Amino acid sequence: MKVKTLSVGTIQANCYIVYDENTKETIVIDPGDESDLILKVIAHENLDIKYILLTHGHYDHIDAVDDIRAVTKASVMIHVDDHEMLTDTKKNMGSRSIKPADVLLRNGDIINFGAYQLQVIYTPGHTKGSCCYYELNEKICFSGDTLFKGTVGRTDLYGGDYSAILESVRKRLSIVDDDTVVYPGHGPETTMAYERKVNPYVR
Ligand SMILES: [Zn+2]
Ligand SMILES: [Zn+2]
Repeated sequence: MKVKTLSVGTIQANCYIVYDENTKETIVIDPGDESDLILKVIAHENLDIKYILLTHGHYDHIDAVDDIRAVTKASVMIHVDDHEMLTDTKKNMGSRSIKPADVLLRNGDIINFGAYQLQVIYTPGHTKGSCCYYELNEKICFSGDTLFKGTVGRTDLYGGDYSAILESVRKRLSIVDDDTVVYPGHGPETTMAYERKVNPYVR
């Protein structure tokens, strides 16, 4: 499984292009801005975009969704509890609303592409429908704005809930193995073991 990281937009959200090098089947996670750049990488690697997967509904993770969807015809997926944010600029805090998603996710759903499977882990707190996506065999987890290196996401915005995010990173993410690489919505990657040892919100 290959992971390409692009930091996009004014507040540098991480967009991840995740693919099977054999089949070229690909998932784009959180295309928050700079659709031209994302589409250039997709074209250059000759990737087949199956899904556009969203960790939550804030503008810095969704703003390029409709541009990418129009070109690739990929299905857009978000947790059912954040779906309302796509079409509502008061809730997503952006300047544009996105068309409704094609697939609504729930905890435990499995997303297949190429030889890989991402498991949906529902992790509310940063928003009502924040999710992490976990590839058990590859030991990779995309954590959105729920878990960052050394900290967690803010909970003072629409749908935020401090006790919920603590429960998410301590209990809901407890199924994630220590030696898993965590790719967050902003900033550098980390590991689950490092967070359990160092992150005051997790340990
Ligand atoms: Zn956010
Ligand atoms: Zn963000």
